[in-house]
Amino acid sequence: MTDQAFVTLTTNDAYAKGALVLGSSLKQHRTTRRMVVLTSPQVSDSMRKVLETVFDDVIMVDVLDSGDSAHLTLMKRPELGITLTKLHCWSLTQYSKCVFMDADTLGLLNTYFSGWATTDITKHLPFVYNLSSISIYSYLPAFKAFGKNAKVVHFLGRTKPWNYTYNPQTKSVNCDSQDPTVSHPEFLNLWWDTFTTNVLPLLQHHGLVKDASSYLMMEHVSGALSDLSFGEAPAAPQPSMSSEERKERWEQGQADYMGADSFDNIKRKLDTYLQ
Ligand code: UDP
Ligand code: MN
Repeated sequence: MTDQAFVTLTTNDAYAKGALVLGSSLKQHRTTRRMVVLTSPQVSDSMRKVLETVFDDVIMVDVLDSGDSAHLTLMKRPELGITLTKLHCWSLTQYSKCVFMDADTLGLLNTYFSGWATTDITKHLPFVYNLSSISIYSYLPAFKAFGKNAKVVHFLGRTKPWNYTYNPQTKSVNCDSQDPTVSHPEFLNLWWDTFTTNVLPLLQHHGLVKDASSYLMMEHVSGALSDLSFGEAPAAPQPSMSSEERKERWEQGQADYMGADSFDNIKRKLDTYLQ
């Protein structure tokens, strides 16, 4: 099946770690398709060499940016403008079919294929093909029924798996057990298990990581101590938020279930309307 491909994108060394974990997990699942990563010139040469050991094709593309700083600032995700770079996937005409492994591009493509949601239900991928790691709480019943069949877990949101620290002895990430966004840390732990087993040795081999054990003990969220350029620090709990901001977070699956968006609060609001 060399004319079909799984495609992903990384525009920097931090997201490259995600791409490498994705690539190595596709390999673990013995994919028969080609594996392609789109990269931009900001990815370091050493990291590009590591990507070449995992992916069949490492394709350099120019960065496309939405330039929509107004909305991106509202979302507190300034880095997401360049996710438009994914559109280069359409230029991979050497393949008859490509699966881009970051399904949140559907917000974008909806506008073009405006009928997709209602036209043909058989063209929709089932829930288990894009299981959101952060909003499991909001569809706990579906997760209970289908979670064991998870095909793809999507760590969408501002805090990515590589922003956590990991304890290889206990095989678990260091996180706040009260944090509803990590109510199911087993997926984060699985990501880190794949990273430490398959990716870290490659980073070491190519000089991107000097000492694996001290690397794992590092406070990745601070970024300052690390060998690599890391993503941003996890979003701190916000004491107060405008209702516009809350709406954005809600729509991203980051509802404040224990606080402002708790069932009791929602019920109270509905009651005031009814009265
Ligand atoms: N991406 C990238 N560099 C960035 C931000 C994003 O290469 O600085 C790519 C990467 O493939 C990522 C995708 O764009 O998975 C979408 O961004 P992200 O996953 O952060 O969005 P979310 O899923 O949190 O909405
Ligand atoms: Mn994503």
